[in-house]
Amino acid sequence: MSAILVYVEHDGGCVTDLSLQCLSCGRQLADQAGAELHAILLGAEAAGVPLADVIHAAKGEGLEPYTTRPHAKKLEDLVSQLQPLAVLLPSSTIGNDLAPRVAGELGLCVTLHCDAVKPEAEALHCRRLEYDARAHTWFAPMANGCTVATLADGIAESASGDTTGRVESLDAGLDADLLRVLVERREVVQKTVNLKDAKVIIGGGAGVGTKENFSLLQKLAERLGGEIGATRASVDAGWVSAERQIGQTGVVVRPDLYIACGISGAVQHAVGIRDARMIVAINSDPAAPIFKMAHYRIVGDLTVVIPKLLDLLG
Ligand code: FAD
Repeated sequence: MSAILVYVEHDGGCVTDLSLQCLSCGRQLADQAGAELHAILLGAEAAGVPLADVIHAAKGEGLEPYTTRPHAKKLEDLVSQLQPLAVLLPSSTIGNDLAPRVAGELGLCVTLHCDAVKPEAEALHCRRLEYDARAHTWFAPMANGCTVATLADGIAESASGDTTGRVESLDAGLDADLLRVLVERREVVQKTVNLKDAKVIIGGGAGVGTKENFSLLQKLAERLGGEIGATRASVDAGWVSAERQIGQTGVVVRPDLYIACGISGAVQHAVGIRDARMIVAINSDPAAPIFKMAHYRIVGDLTVVIPKLLDLLG
């Protein structure tokens, strides 16, 4: 039976959110193609890998923590054995390191940082943003065959649950010449903001005008039990920290409610909020593009509108 293969990235055994999105996307593609969903997990127990029919797992020297050549070799071997229709990897530092190497070694086509994929005529077509995010480009392989793709944050809902598929042990052995890099130490960067899990986000853009005006948004966020998010313009202006940036080069969020304050709705920001359940936009320009994607539109000056909203909320 044909297969879709997902490379599952993990952090100390905990499968990353983007890998869970790859598993969801892989499941959909496998069902559409009548194929099995296979997953490869290196350097960890095969736990927390939902939706996959088969999980190929290996633990051993050189596989944890991640280094390029051992992981590339194991993935190449499995791709050669399975001959899958597609190999999906998270568009992370690791995924984007592995994908071109494996594709190059096996002579397969590769597309990085895809924000949409679709099966067509027994091949996987991949879309990504290009030219400073001014154009969406679709890529199709020149000949039918396996495509390697890394998938961007927001590609699908994160799969949840535990491993239910059949676990197959991979040979963990590696030739000594593949063990060339030693990970000396890893220092965890502490994050203070978790926009991904926030149910309510108040997003501030250049229209907020000053750092002081952000305190209005902060009050609204506190009243609604939410977090502050921002566009790149506000981050570049130094009004909020970079970890609050939403969009193509920030985080992709899925809150129940997103209130966009003084945000024009540029595509690079829109890709980060398109899965919000409800978008309310406050903008003084009635023709602002954000209104095209908003469920509720408030045309007005945010320094007037937000205090009124706060009054209404009591
Ligand atoms: P503007 O586009 O300047 O919009 C400000 C809005 O505020 C306007 O619509 C205006 O009508 C309104 N306004 C003004 N005053 C008021 C007022 N008093 N009350 C109400 N409304 C008011 N951007 C991101 O956000 N995230 C990204 O990840 C990102 N990545 C990028 C990657 C690349 C490669 C590039 C080239 C750009 C990227 N950008 C990103 C930048 C993006 O293109 C836009 O420049 C940015 O999103 C615009 O931010 P903004 O909406 O805050 O500002």
